[in-house]
Amino acid sequence: MTALVYSKNYQNHETGTHPENQGRVRAIMDSLNNAGLIELQNNEKNIFEPEMATGDDLRRVHPASYVDGVREFCEGGGGHLDLDTVASPLSYETAKLSAGGAIKAADLVLNGWNSAYSIGRPPGHHAKRDKAMGFCIFNNIAITLEYLREVHKIKKFLIFDFDVHYGNGTADIFYEDPDVLYISIHQDPRTIFPGVGLIEEIGYGGGEGCNLNIPMPPGSTTSDYRYILERILRQVAEDFHADFYLMDVGFDGHLDDPLSRINLGDDFYEWIGMEMMDIAGSLVLILEGGYDLNALRRCNVKLINGLNKYGSGEEVELHLEDLEVKHQEREVNHEDMEVRRETKETFKEIKEVFSPFYEL
Ligand SMILES: [Zn+2]
Repeated sequence: MTALVYSKNYQNHETGTHPENQGRVRAIMDSLNNAGLIELQNNEKNIFEPEMATGDDLRRVHPASYVDGVREFCEGGGGHLDLDTVASPLSYETAKLSAGGAIKAADLVLNGWNSAYSIGRPPGHHAKRDKAMGFCIFNNIAITLEYLREVHKIKKFLIFDFDVHYGNGTADIFYEDPDVLYISIHQDPRTIFPGVGLIEEIGYGGGEGCNLNIPMPPGSTTSDYRYILERILRQVAEDFHADFYLMDVGFDGHLDDPLSRINLGDDFYEWIGMEMMDIAGSLVLILEGGYDLNALRRCNVKLINGLNKYGSGEEVELHLEDLEVKHQEREVNHEDMEVRRETKETFKEIKEVFSPFYEL
């Protein structure tokens, strides 16, 4: 079963009409509730309230000067932390709560839950050690990993990130780290924010081979994603042999999402939930992007359905008939559902570049 970590206080990060707004996590929680994924039948509690990450938690990743700077900026009323990252007076506390939610999810997995999902905001994977970026203030997944490393003495980590944007903050933080393998599948960064995340960015020094980028051309579908992930994820995980698995989940690669040109369907999310559980055995999930509310509603139910199918043999009953299915006017013709030539070429290139490290 999947444990969920959520707080109503995530509403305190006020961003107005920004795409990363308060409606997102509310929509997710409403849909999980409607689908019967929150109140479990055997009365076992599966929803948990996070606590704020402590100063020590934050400072394992971010310098004190940056943390203090964010606090002072928010106390002063907030505004734009960078071009597209907004902060309100309570954003500092809310960002600490979002990082704390991710830590809580890790604790739940250590306490025996198969999977735990932190449904927090602001997101984190673009945040660098000393810089807010791309709607992100603190790097939630990096903070969680460093907590596990220092407090629980866990050694090797695998992060898989399928948000449609490259998690450049996370990649930067661990770029020279031989014990953290960061795998990201994202829209080709030559066509989308943040403009980095190409195959050649493989890590540096001891971390060479520990940064694996899968850039996908605009128009890629579930078939393309499955083709390439089926050939990479399981093998690389087997060769790397991590002690702990984290997944950064973003829903902005969905067909209906306004911020990308990747065309994933709802079923991708169920498949990746099942596939990652099968590879990892236990998994911490941390919410990143996803900006179409109806896609968020449907695909979060799908994802959790996929996670729950692992190991239990049971199927979760879904109640999706009330959800409005509204596709944008984006053309998807039949040919697009086949694996594209570019996808096969991308796999070949990854196989070649990573042949010194993995048996792809
Ligand atoms: Zn994103």
